[in-house]
Amino acid sequence: MSPLFDLSGRTALITGAARGLGLAFAQGLAEAGARVIVNARSTAQLALAAEQLRARGHDAQALPFDVTDEAAVAAAFDALDQRGIAIDILINNAGIQHRMPLVDLELRDWQRVIDTNLTSAFIVGKQAAKRMIARGRGGKIIHIGSLTSEAARATVAPYTAAKGGIKMLARAMAAEWAQFGIQVNAIGPGYIQTEMNTALMNNPDFDAWVKASNPAKRWGQPEELIGAAVFLSARASDYVNGQIIYVDGGWLAVL
Ligand code: NDP
Repeated sequence: MSPLFDLSGRTALITGAARGLGLAFAQGLAEAGARVIVNARSTAQLALAAEQLRARGHDAQALPFDVTDEAAVAAAFDALDQRGIAIDILINNAGIQHRMPLVDLELRDWQRVIDTNLTSAFIVGKQAAKRMIARGRGGKIIHIGSLTSEAARATVAPYTAAKGGIKMLARAMAAEWAQFGIQVNAIGPGYIQTEMNTALMNNPDFDAWVKASNPAKRWGQPEELIGAAVFLSARASDYVNGQIIYVDGGWLAVL
């Protein structure tokens, strides 16, 4: 493996990694040599994900916490400190979707989506960066945005606002932390076949719309996001900062 993409000796924390894109990121980073720590709220599903990674020969551990709970996140990082584990790579992947016309949207649902998709990246990113700065060896932080970081669609306003915010939060963090050798970038996936999109995949009209409007004429698969994540986690991207890489089959190119 080229040393530019070799993650041996690095430890990566991936939030929202009990399934879907997060689990694919964990698998991909582990294959590139990283020790991976997978996070989610559901302890049972998370334990299963870590077990699945270990069964494939990877160094994987589960670390359950809610990314919106600042105290729980701080406690999780303290626990890592006590075990002598330093995070070199953080992927802020945990996210939720809530579809509702804006006029019917309750404030609590707006808040829940903003907290999980945007504020969490500040909460977890701050804990990781504080330690990366103190350690003096730099680090990599990757936020997961979306096509909605760039283009709006109806009925997903808080998600769109959060994912637009993620793109700018990556730039804001890069502006502050580049001097410490920390690169903060984002990945913007197109429509990918995961549990988050179960209802959409099972809706024949939506499925047909995805296949008709994407130049690739198909949905994406979680594994297709791994290349961007490994690049942004590795030495190869040491001079890339504050960027978002869209992995969308070319969709934004034709919007
Ligand atoms: P999934 O719903 O399949 O997985 C989401 C993961 O996040 C689960 O492991 C879930 O576990 C975890 N999670 C949710 N809330 C929290 C929380 N508060 N604290 C910790 N973990 C949490 O989603 P995807 O894999 O599809 O999405 C992953 C990311 O990619 C999200 O940020 C999403 O917005 C983004 N994305 C996805 C796209 C797609 O088409 N699939 C397109 C563009 C972006 P648990 O519920 O147990 O906590």
